[in-house]
Amino acid sequence: MRIILVGSPGSGKGTQAQYICQQYNIPQISTGDMLRAAVKAGTPLGLKVKSIMDSGALVSDDLILELIRERIQQQDCINGFLLDGFPRTLTQAYGLAEMGIRLDYVLEIDVDDAEIIQRLSGRRVHPGSGRVYHIEFNPPKKDGVDDETGELLIQRDDDQIDVIKQRLELYHQLTKPLINYYSEIADKDPSLTFVSVKGVGSVDQITAKIQKVLDDV
Ligand code: AMP
Repeated sequence: MRIILVGSPGSGKGTQAQYICQQYNIPQISTGDMLRAAVKAGTPLGLKVKSIMDSGALVSDDLILELIRERIQQQDCINGFLLDGFPRTLTQAYGLAEMGIRLDYVLEIDVDDAEIIQRLSGRRVHPGSGRVYHIEFNPPKKDGVDDETGELLIQRDDDQIDVIKQRLELYHQLTKPLINYYSEIADKDPSLTFVSVKGVGSVDQITAKIQKVLDDV
C-alpha cells in the first residue's frame, strides 16, 4: 500500500494520514514533521531550514528528495507507506518517479481557501508526536494538552495568517499541478488510482469517505 496524500496546508491531511496509517499498518512519512524534528533537534539540516519554514516558503527540492530517498529505504517501509506533504512540486514528483517507486493511490483532499484560513487559525499540534488537533473541530480531551502524553500543545509559527496566505499561494502555484500530473498517469496506468475527496464535514465524515474510496477500489 503506497499512498500519496495531496491537499493544501490545513486540508486535514495529517489527521487523515494518522487514521489511514493505523488502518493499513504503514508508516506516515511527513516531510514537514521530519523537518520540524530536525529544527527541534538543532541538526545542521534543522538550522538550514528553520527560517525557510517559518516564512512559509518551500525547502529546496534536492534537499527534500534526499530526505525521502533515505527514509523510504528503511525497513518499516517494506509493506508500503503514506507520503504526507510530499511531493509538493512537479520536480519532487519526477524525482520520486526516478526512484522507481510504484504507487497505488494518490488521494487529494480538496478544501476551499476560505475554509483553510478558518481551520488553520485553530490548529494545535503535539510537537513530540506530530498529532494534530483543532480547538473546535477535533479538540483534545483536555484543553491545550495531548490526549496520549498529557504534554502541552502548540500553535505553529507557520499557522499565522500572513504565512497561511503565502502557503496557500504556493500550494496553488506549485503543488496543485500534481493533481493533473497524477490523474493523467492514473488514466493510463490501471495500477494507480487517483481520487479526489471533498474535505468538508467532520473529521469522522471525511475519514468515512476516504475509507469507502480505499475499500471500493
Ligand atoms: P507541512 O507540515 O507539510 O505543511 O510542512 C511545513 C513546512 O515544511 C512547509 O511550509 C515547507 O517549508 C516545508 N516542507 C515540508 N514538506 C516539504 C516539501 N515536500 N517540499 C518543500 N518544503 C517542504
